[in-house]
Amino acid sequence: MDIKVPRGTQDILPTETGKWQAVEELIREQCRMYQYKEIRTPVFEHTELFTRSVGDTTDIVQKEMYTFQDRGNRSLTLRPEGTASAVRAFVEHKMFGYPDQPVKLYYMGPMFRYERQQAGRYRQFVQFGIEAIGSADPAIDAEVISLAMSVYQNAGLKKLKLVINSLGDKESRVSHKTALVSHFEPHIEEFCSDCQNRLQKNPLRILDCKVDRNHPLMETAPSLADFLNEESAAYFEKVKEYLTILNIPFEVDPNLVRGLDYYNHTAFEIMSAAEGFGAITTLAGGGRYNGLVEELGGPDAPGIGFAMSIERLLLAIEAENNVWSDKSTLDVYVIGLGEAAKKKAVELTYQLRQEKITAEMDYLDRKMKTQMKSADRLKAKFVLVIGDDELEKESAMLKELATGTQNLVPFSSLIDQIKTSSTQLEAEENE
Ligand code: ATP
Ligand code: MG
Repeated sequence: MDIKVPRGTQDILPTETGKWQAVEELIREQCRMYQYKEIRTPVFEHTELFTRSVGDTTDIVQKEMYTFQDRGNRSLTLRPEGTASAVRAFVEHKMFGYPDQPVKLYYMGPMFRYERQQAGRYRQFVQFGIEAIGSADPAIDAEVISLAMSVYQNAGLKKLKLVINSLGDKESRVSHKTALVSHFEPHIEEFCSDCQNRLQKNPLRILDCKVDRNHPLMETAPSLADFLNEESAAYFEKVKEYLTILNIPFEVDPNLVRGLDYYNHTAFEIMSAAEGFGAITTLAGGGRYNGLVEELGGPDAPGIGFAMSIERLLLAIEAENNVWSDKSTLDVYVIGLGEAAKKKAVELTYQLRQEKITAEMDYLDRKMKTQMKSADRLKAKFVLVIGDDELEKESAMLKELATGTQNLVPFSSLIDQIKTSSTQLEAEENE
């Protein structure tokens, strides 16, 4: 048999899942700090949800979606991102009626995009993202950005770059759009077919094109910054002011437009400036999406959010040479020598686990020496040895691996003794 994982997907092996879990825990902790609550939505949705929200001129909708017909002839799509589903759920479950507004949500789970595989780019990847829906206060834009930064900082990353821009409101964008069309139209035949399609539908997308990024007209394209109306400019100033209050350094990049249609006002990306990170340096992207809730059938509730992939976060940790020590340890390795002792070992191992003491034993009838080596590899704190002699005395030999000290402990007080010694060990470690 020669079946491998599908291109663009990966197995995360037991030697790696420890890192994943550590990062996921860190993320959940940050969400608790900031009071974002988890939402879990299906991994597939009606295709229309994404064409309506992400936008049908975007790369995601045009090239990257896993869309299929189910047996009932519905067009379904494996979710390529999380905001559309979160907003759909917000509307469907009338979260706009919740007493506490804005509604602050986070999600973490697999997303699917048909992309060319490279470092940091997969066809199935795990995104963590947050959405704050129901407030147009620029202070919450700063909160959302600060949560993303905080995740990276708590993961030990130092070489971070935050880039922000304002896409303005509808009015600002309409005047900018007109200017873009007049700018590109005379030379549009020099651009890729996607850009030619984008010209009338969504010329802003041209600025985000990966094919034509070096065309001279890109450099001279009219900048959104010059088209912000007074209100949009004032909003952007406040976001910057709050970021300054939070001591979060940022750069303004007037060309940052982001790949999804639903963004307006604040847009941002966080990049890794670590050497050796590779070609793709964007760790996270997000922005404001006032109007999306209405677009999906809800009331006029403004929103803002971001998404990051865990894959790129782990790559950045590696690129900065941060080592995540594997915290998995074992409390007790139980060794039973001989048939009778083996039975006792099986029983004890079970009892220890019932008492929330992690325990492991041998199931291959290996020699004592080999079992001791296993205990070492598993970083066991204690080894419990039971042979015929011990069995006769209704006791087991309890050995502390770090010091080598050992004591004969009666079965009846074994659990208590292990708990006491463990507490002592921990206290010493924390000194
Ligand atoms: P890119 O320009 O790299 O294609 P994007 O604009 O498509 O990114 P978003 O849709 O904003 O990305 O997704 C937010 C984040 O999700 C990205 O910053 C990145 O961390 C992650 N991400 C997006 N696509 C992938 C992928 N194919 N594999 C792994 N992570 C991804
Ligand atoms: Mg992309």
